[in-house]
Amino acid sequence: MPHDPFSPATAMLAGMPAKYLFMLIPLLGLACFAWIIARRMVPLLRAAPDPRLERIPERIFLVLKLWLAQWRQPRYVLAGMLHIVVFFGFLILAARSIQMVVLGFVDGFVLPGLGGALGEVYNVKKDIASTAVLVAVVILAVRRAFFKPARYEVPEKLGKDHTPEALFVLGLIATLMISESAFEGSLLAAQGEGASSATFLTLTWLFERMLSGVQVSTLAGMNLAAYVIHDLTFFFFLCLLPFGKHFHVITSLFNVFFMRLQTGNIKPVVHGISDAQLDDVKSFGVKKFEDFTWKHMLDFYSCVDCGRCSDRCPANAVKRPLSPRFISIKARDYAFEHYPILGKSKTDHVPLIGGIYSEDEIWSCTTCGACEEECPVGIEYIDKIVDLRRGMVDDGMVPQSLQKPLSALEKRGNPWGKLEKKRAEWTAGVGEGVQVKLVEKGETAETLYFVDSITSYDDRMQKIAQATARILNKGNVDFVVIGKDEKDSGHDVRRFGEEMLFQSLKEQNTEAIKASEARRIVVNDPHAMNALRNDYADMPPVQHVSELIADAVESGKLKFKPLANSSKTYTYHDPCYLGRHNGTYDAPRQAIDCIPGLKRVEMEGNCRDRSFCCGGGGLMLFYEPEEEQRMGVVRVEQARQAGADVIVTACPYCLTNIEDAIKVAGLEGKMEVLDLVELVDGQLQD
Ligand code: SF4
Ligand code: SF4
Repeated sequence: MPHDPFSPATAMLAGMPAKYLFMLIPLLGLACFAWIIARRMVPLLRAAPDPRLERIPERIFLVLKLWLAQWRQPRYVLAGMLHIVVFFGFLILAARSIQMVVLGFVDGFVLPGLGGALGEVYNVKKDIASTAVLVAVVILAVRRAFFKPARYEVPEKLGKDHTPEALFVLGLIATLMISESAFEGSLLAAQGEGASSATFLTLTWLFERMLSGVQVSTLAGMNLAAYVIHDLTFFFFLCLLPFGKHFHVITSLFNVFFMRLQTGNIKPVVHGISDAQLDDVKSFGVKKFEDFTWKHMLDFYSCVDCGRCSDRCPANAVKRPLSPRFISIKARDYAFEHYPILGKSKTDHVPLIGGIYSEDEIWSCTTCGACEEECPVGIEYIDKIVDLRRGMVDDGMVPQSLQKPLSALEKRGNPWGKLEKKRAEWTAGVGEGVQVKLVEKGETAETLYFVDSITSYDDRMQKIAQATARILNKGNVDFVVIGKDEKDSGHDVRRFGEEMLFQSLKEQNTEAIKASEARRIVVNDPHAMNALRNDYADMPPVQHVSELIADAVESGKLKFKPLANSSKTYTYHDPCYLGRHNGTYDAPRQAIDCIPGLKRVEMEGNCRDRSFCCGGGGLMLFYEPEEEQRMGVVRVEQARQAGADVIVTACPYCLTNIEDAIKVAGLEGKMEVLDLVELVDGQLQD
């Protein structure tokens, strides 16, 4: 291999060996970077605790899947593919960047493992990577500047547009790619014939071709200039990252490693404090920035500002005053302002509600989980929103419309304040030949059907309870319901921040469930299922009735007769707490598809884990946020566009919201909605 005719480590600059400058740049760069990171760590060190070191193998798997394999990026095809190109380009070029830094003061330095044949292979890869990254960066810049997707917009009241920052950073990345290629290309041009050549049609190859025949002294100057530009840009870029949305380049790996491992659950009020110790907690929830956990602060630093969460957020879609992306961005701006890189941290502790968030903004969330499902770097919103609500409830900031149902829940165990003794009245309409056993009468069974409030008391939803009972009976399931001692599961009470009321409901239900002696619980309400599975402790296995139906169909216990009217087209709406939060997507579809003559279509792009929330359950029924349109109306429109006349769901709240939405949209008689159990019950073979 010919000897390099020049090298930054042997070059002279202004009469001095350049290598001293090339030692100083990384020293200063790394010192600045360490200082900046140390300052950015300050709020995290003052934050609430959050133990995140359990289940390490699962965490490593998530890093490999979400971070290394960029699993969620292709959900937005163009942006995702471009991001993947830049990400892998960066990974490949990281070794080259380190090598280049050391080449400034060690002549001919080669990173261990990158010499010989391996080095040849690596050089091909890095030439392709730098070219591909440059092409991706140009496309991203043109897209940002001229064809910006709506999800990148920043409403005036929420701050300034982030386009200039994004373009500047893309410019820096392009500079890194061009300077590295010019550095390499000028060297190869000087080595001339016999030297190894750059990879065909890459940027380095282009530089080599353009510069062949140029005098060696000129090439040496160009090589040195390219080196200086690359070195300065590299360390400037490194130190710039923690100042804005590109901090994710550093933090996303850690954020994914520490992300939540479970869906459906809610963080405890304070990590390390048991439910029994809650009486001793002086202040509930998040009221000031420092009340957030360190992981939630890391989330704020890690937000890519890609807008995917808000793009899928139903509250944002119907113009409620909530866009999850800005929950992160406003908090990050707050952190940067109150914990500056230079100067003292501010300790004025601005209240978050009224300071950076509004009450309506925080009450607008249905906890549907669409934002978390979409976020490519594992940022969490539900726990933060619940914690902010806990803080508001603790300070007496409860919306007027929620006060009455909350008080009724406390007194009577249901949000309508109906009498406990009427809880099992629905059983009277089950029909002949179906016997419903009651724990309140001292009866027990292997299976407990936990009915929950809306299905017990609402006239329309009682039909779901009756259909469920008939299906259980038909499937030869020995079941019991609790009756007057059953309380609301408290699912939404907890998610609305009323932790102590939730604890009381949980205790009463736990006692009643134990009295049933059941070894399995069946529910028709996914909220109840989620509470019993994820909020309660020591419960028997909890099954949604759709899973039970799918099993019974498979084992031949349930058989269906053909649909009387097969001219209609059906679609299935995934309830958030059955699908996204608990991963049950197939069982309801299997049950529907077993009905002879039934034609089902998917709401493509808006089904399964991308299902659009109907408007929320539980206490959301009592809260009327400011909005331009009902979520249910958007959902009905999505079903209509998919070509469906009948929407089948598997949740009493979805049924309520969609039924209302059909009326609001003026589609009565054209569209209808059914619960899965109603559909199945009507098709059971005698
Ligand atoms: S949980 Fe749903 S409603 Fe709440 S912020 Fe996320 S996407 Fe929006
Ligand atoms: S929270 Fe996640 S999805 Fe939302 S803007 Fe930030 S990075 Fe994107």
